[in-house]
Amino acid sequence: MKIAAHTLGCKLNYAETSDLLRRMAALGHTIVDWNTKADLYIINTCTVTAVAEKKCRTAIHQAHRKNAEARVAVIGCFAQVAAKDIESIPGVTLVLGNDRKHLLPAIVESEGWTAEGESGGGAPAVASDASAFPLQYSSGDRTRTFFKIQDGCDYFCTYCAIPFARGRSKSATVEETLCMAQRIVDEGAREVVLTGVNTGTFGQQHGERFVDLLRGLDAVEGIERYRISSIEPNLLTDDIIDFVAHSRAFLPHFHIPLQAGSDHVLQLMHRRYDTALYRSKLLRIKEVMPDACIAADIMAGFNGENEEEFAKTLSFVDSLPISYLHVFTYSDRPGTAALRLGEKVPVPVRHEHTHRLLELSERKHNEFIQSQIGKERPVLWESKHVDMTMEGWTDNYIRVSRPYDASMVNAVEPVLLTAENILRQEM
Ligand code: SF4
Repeated sequence: MKIAAHTLGCKLNYAETSDLLRRMAALGHTIVDWNTKADLYIINTCTVTAVAEKKCRTAIHQAHRKNAEARVAVIGCFAQVAAKDIESIPGVTLVLGNDRKHLLPAIVESEGWTAEGESGGGAPAVASDASAFPLQYSSGDRTRTFFKIQDGCDYFCTYCAIPFARGRSKSATVEETLCMAQRIVDEGAREVVLTGVNTGTFGQQHGERFVDLLRGLDAVEGIERYRISSIEPNLLTDDIIDFVAHSRAFLPHFHIPLQAGSDHVLQLMHRRYDTALYRSKLLRIKEVMPDACIAADIMAGFNGENEEEFAKTLSFVDSLPISYLHVFTYSDRPGTAALRLGEKVPVPVRHEHTHRLLELSERKHNEFIQSQIGKERPVLWESKHVDMTMEGWTDNYIRVSRPYDASMVNAVEPVLLTAENILRQEM
């Protein structure tokens, strides 16, 4: 069969899709571009916002338009929480939630597979297989790979549907994860991005700690650079910060969800930290890694975010060494506790707050880049080249370019950062 895939949402989804396609190719199928005619279309879905769900529906319609005879398998988070709705969309052949999506290659191989629904419809169902944890990584790019080390979440923040879609926190053991890292070495990737839903809870079901995994990974020969895709501030221990500062291969780049700079809004969100804790983590990072890049997720327009609370968020972010923001606009997610909270923010105000946070993010990012001009940072060059230039990331996540040189593809080189070689791009 010719198989095409489309992935929506987070890096975790990309790692999972890539793993599925690698297994399908090993079974003799041909992987083709999403825009071409295929026999099977796989759509790995997201449910984090209403916009993400709309994109899932659009992708389903696109697949059906490209080949009305093709099978369409809808998998992942949206498939987990809205299976009944998705099954009724014309062209959909198979719906697999998160707890069964890794079975797709076996289902495709079995004869006569037909439309099959997961539990769903009405209130979202928690993923049923709480312990299954297939270690997966993305491939196809020898420069960087996304390595899924953890899945699920027990936190149930009031705005978030992910615990319903991905179930409770789960991971493999440190030993199993290190074995898989060895396979990634064999594929030749130079940089590994550790991904998960709530990565800092890695190992909790086995009585192990995330920092022990980091220590083990740092000792794996053949992997030169690691990034931690995201970690909750309350789980970012001083042990982890100090370890990263002195490690062989972990890069000075952190992604620490903030969501709001108002303690009142953080409480309504049921986040497990306050602004004082968040500030202390960032100051600690900058104390031991002054050039570290620190990104923060932030949500605009959650319940309780009146002008006074929003002003607190703006001034809190402004006062911190945050390099840039990932800004999300709050939208109601079915089944979440936020639906029952008061203090709703009108939708136009949510968008206005989003806009102001994006402006703040751009200013913070410019300030971060200015602080790095004149410094030398190691850059991993990528294979893609346009107009005789090639691009890469510094260790502290600044995008830079240089004239194309085939011998530099996938090589790490110290680069003096200048206003000319830094690429400004939306983060
Ligand atoms: S920590 Fe909160 S926001 Fe993150 S996945 Fe868990 S419930 Fe969702």
